[in-house]
Amino acid sequence: MTLNELLAGSSATVAFTGAGISTESGIPDFRSPGGVWTRYDPRDFTFARYVESEEVRTRAWAMRREFWASDPQPNPAHLALARLEARGRLLGVVTQNIDGLHQAAGSRTVIELHGRSREVMCIGASPRTGTPDGCGFSAPTSWAFERVDAGEADPRCPTCAGIVKSATVSFGQNLHPGLLDRAADLLGQADLVLAIGSSMQVYPAAGLPMIAVERGVPLVICNAEPTPLDDVATLTVDGKAGEVLSAAVDAVLGGATATPRPRSWGDPRRRRRPSPHRRASPGP
Ligand code: NAD
Repeated sequence: MTLNELLAGSSATVAFTGAGISTESGIPDFRSPGGVWTRYDPRDFTFARYVESEEVRTRAWAMRREFWASDPQPNPAHLALARLEARGRLLGVVTQNIDGLHQAAGSRTVIELHGRSREVMCIGASPRTGTPDGCGFSAPTSWAFERVDAGEADPRCPTCAGIVKSATVSFGQNLHPGLLDRAADLLGQADLVLAIGSSMQVYPAAGLPMIAVERGVPLVICNAEPTPLDDVATLTVDGKAGEVLSAAVDAVLGGATATPRPRSWGDPRRRRRPSPHRRASPGP
């Protein structure tokens, strides 16, 4: 079956998205050449290292600035998913992304497994168990950038002087159990799962599509390279998410897309890929 046929036959699609859906918005992913981790050492950005090292926190603010420097906007892939939801065919998006671009595109049901980069929060003076232990202070990320610009390399919580951190989930930090439950519940209602722009290597998030697969629900993987879950997918679609999704959603909903065109990526190739040679492994 093709992506168009699977989408046309679905009334309860759930999208599972990763960093690859936002590369066409100018945000680098983690693992592709030129991605974030070619310029920053992932071992430095664990929750424990963030808590123990002022120098790591200082560099983390520099990385955050780089993340937002280009003022990223939703691309045709985000917009296509929002259109599917608006037409009642998509139940929602479960995303590993922290960029907020699904909401900016108009998606309403978005489960952000790894938090939000547009906010900062107090995590307490010395949380030790991979779980924030702050006083409840939160603010837009611009608050931290303003403090850094004013000369505070490591801005502290104005309420309790605890450590301030981006409201995202770092490696070694526990996911909010309520969010995992909500994501599992949504995937439990899906009649089609679209996994888009994820290397499917960061657990537990990457295990979520299996909830649907184990019920016999088709899984379509749209990614620019093979993933460890390709073997269990009904279909793998090789190509840029923006082109693949906007073309498929146009075909299913009818009419031309009202979304901007992405940069010219050439014709997306669609084919069933051979088995991958990689195995699933936790993220760095
Ligand atoms: P990943 O970097 O491990 O994998 C991204 C995948 O997307 C790669 O396999 C790549 O080949 C593919 N890809 C890149 N551009 C694509 C495109 N235009 N179309 C289709 N596929 C494309 O990302 P991940 O699986 O999401 O896991 C890494 C972690 O990175 C997540 O926890 C996420 O929180 C975090 N992250 C988020 C952002 C963001 O919010 N935009 C950016 C970087 C990292």
